[in-house]
Amino acid sequence: MQMMCPNCLSQDLRTSRFRIADLARILILQLPVRCRNCQQRGYAFLHQALRLPGRKVTRRKHSGH
Ligand SMILES: [Zn+2]
Repeated sequence: MQMMCPNCLSQDLRTSRFRIADLARILILQLPVRCRNCQQRGYAFLHQALRLPGRKVTRRKHSGH
């Protein structure tokens, strides 16, 4: 079942950055997600969140260290 944003009903969600306040949610197997359409932050169950694309990892290239 696809996650939907509770605010705008968009399905364009991604996993969000963890915060201390998220710990209680994580204990009940929920992960923070953010809607890419309206930026609403919410929570998804672990098995749903793991299917989301997640935020893009932008690795900085180390130039001749
Ligand atoms: Zn939304």
